[in-house]
Amino acid sequence: MIIVLHHGIKEQEKQAIRSNLENKGFTIREIIGEEETIFGAVGVVSIDVREVELLPGVSRVIPITKPYKLVSREFKKDDTIVPVGPIKIGGKRIVVIAGPCAIESREQIFESAYKVKDSGAVMLRGGAYKPRTSPYSFQGLEEKGLKFLKEAGEATGMPVISEIVATEQVSMMKDYVDMIQIGARNMQNFELLKRVGPIQKPILLKRGFAATIQELLMAAEYLVAHGAEYVIFCERGIRTFETYTRNTLDISAIPVIKTLSHFPVMVDPSHATGIREKVSPMALASVAAGADGVVVEVHPDPDNALSDGPQSLYPEQFEKLMRDIQALAPVLGKEISRLPDKAISITFRRESKKIDHKGKLKVSFQGERGAFSEKAIYSYFEEEVTLVPCTEFRNVFNSVLEGKSDIGVIPLENSLSGSIHQNYDLLLQFPDINIIGEKKIRIIHNLIALPGADLNEIKRVYSHPQGLAQCAKYLENFPGWEKVAYSDTAGSVAFIAKTGDKMNAAIASEEAAKVYGMHILKASIETNAQNYTRFGVIARPETVKVENPEKASFVFSTIDKPGALYLVLKILMEHSINMKKLESRPIPGKPWEYMFYVDVEVPENISIFNNCIDQLKNETEEFRLLGMYRI
Ligand code: PEP
Ligand code: MN
Repeated sequence: MIIVLHHGIKEQEKQAIRSNLENKGFTIREIIGEEETIFGAVGVVSIDVREVELLPGVSRVIPITKPYKLVSREFKKDDTIVPVGPIKIGGKRIVVIAGPCAIESREQIFESAYKVKDSGAVMLRGGAYKPRTSPYSFQGLEEKGLKFLKEAGEATGMPVISEIVATEQVSMMKDYVDMIQIGARNMQNFELLKRVGPIQKPILLKRGFAATIQELLMAAEYLVAHGAEYVIFCERGIRTFETYTRNTLDISAIPVIKTLSHFPVMVDPSHATGIREKVSPMALASVAAGADGVVVEVHPDPDNALSDGPQSLYPEQFEKLMRDIQALAPVLGKEISRLPDKAISITFRRESKKIDHKGKLKVSFQGERGAFSEKAIYSYFEEEVTLVPCTEFRNVFNSVLEGKSDIGVIPLENSLSGSIHQNYDLLLQFPDINIIGEKKIRIIHNLIALPGADLNEIKRVYSHPQGLAQCAKYLENFPGWEKVAYSDTAGSVAFIAKTGDKMNAAIASEEAAKVYGMHILKASIETNAQNYTRFGVIARPETVKVENPEKASFVFSTIDKPGALYLVLKILMEHSINMKKLESRPIPGKPWEYMFYVDVEVPENISIFNNCIDQLKNETEEFRLLGMYRI
């Protein structure tokens, strides 16, 4: 049962409830949430919930009706995010684990590790104990293999995962791996589950070939009941009458498990299909269906692999898959997980005094909590940051300039409504601030109202004018609604929350609804689903170092003479520099004079670029490089 405790409950009362239930034979887990603290009590004994409800400090008691308790959503409504070294599995990130089926040699696992890391994998897999159907097949390098795996993981900075097949391996294995895999064949090896549970490592629990979802959840319950804090489910295909593929990938298991449990769900498309060509489409389908990541077999030389060669991707195929996942992620409002050294291309000069006492970067943005800019911040930074909300865009720039924040995040361009000129103008007015990065995110607007409000009750809808405009088609259905412009989308949600009036609605992000405890009446009401905003990440150039920039932005005005713009563009052509954007803007205070804003790709050979910039400076009247950054 779930025992929701009173807000501000005294430690003494908490202790009393705990001992009361423990004396009755319950095991208690405490979960401190953002809004409430709960006790999860699990035991074989039965008890009248009213008895517990009467204990001082108890707000309410919810019985868990499912046979699995600790892994159920009823037990914990928020997603559990599983930390594995620097990687977090679950939430808004897509984690890709890759590597060979089996560790075959030191060279092979090192080569695999470097190749998959280069393409963007964040964890390395490799079997050292291979549960093979035939006793004559390669059985794995055992402990020696685990040593190689650990070394390869350390060399590349990737946490590693390997499968355990016997209880006697538990104590040895935990020193080599960051995450333990329980394979399909052992999903219901309850003695193994009981021994692996207590070792305090995250566990990837693969679904048995003939196991129902409920049996999978019960197996996870064994792990958690025996001390495991973190389990990740892995759908890897089940046996059906179909024989074309090695197994049948149960895609529907992904959303089903995600509703039934708070733990993340990953998919192994390699064992699911058994056919190399089918792995990538199934990996993409899994991600589209909401998987928190995929585990993919990749081998440097699949044709000579000692196990599962036919289903192992060639490194080139894996690289292509990673690019496809990267392209798919923003559509789903997710980000591909990256290792810290690949996460952001910029190195913050950490000695800078502006880093707060917890060592977190301070990042300023315009708007209230829940703003789309905040979403851009979360998808840009892998690490936790301290948010510095500002009322105006100008304040974001000032905050960075004055060192009140290390970084600022500002919207630069929307794929439907075009540039946010105010920010381009501010970039000009703040010559000591540069663009150091960019992030594109999909904008999904929702109709948000107070909990319990009904669509029929709504009389007014608040949002930023862009939010209202981008949902015009949906709003046409409600001609009677008053549309009220508000300074920002998230702010409009904060406002309707404050009014407490069920006749008010707002248009904003899902996150804003969550932050202010509001309810989504209708999700995704934007007229055009292809609605993206490009955000600029800004900083003082001396506080960051951008390695291998891919893109640059600059602004210039030309001398007033025939062919002036042509001469500038010619310089770009002569340096084979690809232009991504060209826009003209009136110069504030100089009627009928224009500045040109340009985005270009930066060539690998940076000296070509520098030379081009020097020539541009000579050919233009005013020139300013706004920044060079990675995309
Ligand atoms: C594996 O991941 O190498 C493996 C043997 O998988 P499964 O247990 O899903 O067959
Ligand atoms: Mn395999």
